[in-house]
Amino acid sequence: MIVKQIWTANAYRNFNYLIACSETGEALAIDPLDYQKCLNVAKEEGWDITQILNTHEHRDHTGGNESMVAKTGAKILAHKNARDKIANIARGLGAGDVIKVGSTVELETLDTPGHTMSHVCLLSHTDQPALFCGDTLFNAGAGNCHNGGHPAELYRTFSEQLSKLPSSTLIYPGHDYIENNLRFTLNREPDNTDAQQMLDSVSEQDPDCAYVSTLEVERRINTFFRLTSPTVIAKLRESFPDLPEQPDQRTVFLKLRELRNKW
Ligand SMILES: [Zn+2]
Repeated sequence: MIVKQIWTANAYRNFNYLIACSETGEALAIDPLDYQKCLNVAKEEGWDITQILNTHEHRDHTGGNESMVAKTGAKILAHKNARDKIANIARGLGAGDVIKVGSTVELETLDTPGHTMSHVCLLSHTDQPALFCGDTLFNAGAGNCHNGGHPAELYRTFSEQLSKLPSSTLIYPGHDYIENNLRFTLNREPDNTDAQQMLDSVSEQDPDCAYVSTLEVERRINTFFRLTSPTVIAKLRESFPDLPEQPDQRTVFLKLRELRNKW
């Protein structure tokens, strides 16, 4: 499996992806908003884009579909419940569905509601797994829920699916928000030295060759995985004085999501 992370350099800071089979040169484009950049990369590499995968229905993820289909004839894949929100879905996906790219790549569909209610993430079947997580999980952050999502569902996705993936899983999010998100982590957990070191190292980074984290790293720098941290809980109590002595993780997650919205 060959992965190209494509930085769009747009105001929304989107990342697009191409996933290619090293044997056949067939490729799948994830959320190819900047279809021209994706096409240019495919051309340079000699790849054929045969499938488009939309992680969810938001326009900054689907806006390149029409032009990409016109240029390549690629089929559109998305969550089966996104049919009324995304035009011309050729294959509706549910949990556990496997997407094949060429002869060597297999990607498993995770049904991951929260950011929207028809959001999928893809998990590669590779020695070191890779997660293409759209707007569900970001480096050092979590998706917002104010355009068709539900925070409680997002928590369930984090606790029941994402947190159970192997620590070595590579994280490929839909946007480059790492710097801002690390500032939020440090706002919530000022003694998090891993987050501080990460902020120092990525603040000057070129998004064209962006740092790729793993789930193990996210567990250290992402507030939304640090729901039992004494500092996180103590700081949260400053904003929510009624917080129980030992709040459950769901409560902490939801309060953090609420604070992040206002931050
Ligand atoms: Zn979105």
